Amino acid sequence: MQIDRLLFPVTALGPGNRLAIWTIGCHKRCKKCANPELRMFDKTKNISVEQLENMILKIDIMRIDGITISGGEPFAQPSELKKFLQKISSKVEDILVFSGYTYEELLKIQDSDVQECFKYIGVLISGEYIDEKNDNKTALIASTNQKIYFLKENLKEKYKKYMDKGRQIQNIFWKDELMSVGIHNSERSV
Ligand code: SF4
Repeated sequence: MQIDRLLFPVTALGPGNRLAIWTIGCHKRCKKCANPELRMFDKTKNISVEQLENMILKIDIMRIDGITISGGEPFAQPSELKKFLQKISSKVEDILVFSGYTYEELLKIQDSDVQECFKYIGVLISGEYIDEKNDNKTALIASTNQKIYFLKENLKEKYKKYMDKGRQIQNIFWKDELMSVGIHNSERSV
């Protein structure tokens, strides 16, 4: 699975102390993409799902309130994504996945790996990023065309409370650089 980074604890991409994973590779080309450096696939960043799981299990699993998977496009690696979700969902219930595709588009993909992912995902935020529709305020939703789906209904209340607080940004030192994590406001003048 091509992974760029894995950070813990992240609090700006969903409720609680989360493990955040950024996959590499995306076939879309949204204007003003938030993570353009993650659009190109990169075989040098390939690790097995077992390696990824082992890295995660080095953290005390009880400290992980949820997992957020972003990219790049997580569904661009469907078999690895399914395998990973299958393994980790027995340990962590709250799994949030961001996708640049709408849920309707994902449901039309005739690939059993893609479809099986929905059995394990708790929350899906889907739809491409449209900078003109970034309202600079909604938590977790970067542009208002994107939709949030609670595939596990019991997570809804927890997310509602988190989202009521508005957008959060977290600065993290990673590879000697200060990285800003979270849903950012548009740089366009509004
Ligand atoms: S789907 Fe996400 S990673 Fe892909 S181009 Fe759009 S904003 Fe960038």
